[in-house]
Amino acid sequence: MSYRSESVCTTCRRENLKLFLKGDRCFTEKCSFERRSYPPGQHGQARTKFSEYSLQMREKQKVRKLFGLLENQFENVVSKATIQRGVTGEAMLASLERRLDSVVYSLGFAQSRSQARQLVRHSHFLVNQKRLNIPSYQVNAGDVIEVHEKSRVLKPILAALEAIKRREIPQWLDLNAGQFKGMVKQAPKRADITMPIQENLIVEYYSR
Ligand code: SF4
Repeated sequence: MSYRSESVCTTCRRENLKLFLKGDRCFTEKCSFERRSYPPGQHGQARTKFSEYSLQMREKQKVRKLFGLLENQFENVVSKATIQRGVTGEAMLASLERRLDSVVYSLGFAQSRSQARQLVRHSHFLVNQKRLNIPSYQVNAGDVIEVHEKSRVLKPILAALEAIKRREIPQWLDLNAGQFKGMVKQAPKRADITMPIQENLIVEYYSR
């Protein structure tokens, strides 16, 4: 089970970026980052010069928290990316995006990745017509993800689909909201990931 030592909004302020971890609230004036867009703590507003190591570490923490992974889970993702063909950082990001919980969030069936993870764990989704409750499952091109018929009345899913108008479905995915169904058109490319991430810093962090 994931353990958080600080509020999710504090995470956004610490990483100096809106990570959209709280669903609907992130789009309202209640967003803590909108109200106090400086790091938390007594010295939050002081100018700080970061070492190379701390920049790498902060980038790693930012992405790890964005996807809601524990240290060992994230390290595992990076480790698998290093043995794949191509650019390690891009393989790492593609692997994170292809997680079933992340896809459920990106398709708009959940308002945050943490909510998506919970819905997946509770078996509310089918992948290629089979129930799947593994958040880390890697989707592939051609996979069809749909909400289980009995789960189509669930308030969190209906509210998420209503709120999807506020964000864009990534180009590598296709949503048919009326049928509670989404499809993976192709594997995600680097250009599909719009969140500002310097993946090279993360790879450098783990290469030390
Ligand atoms: Fe981040 Fe959302 Fe909290 Fe704003 S409301 S600080 S975007 S988690």
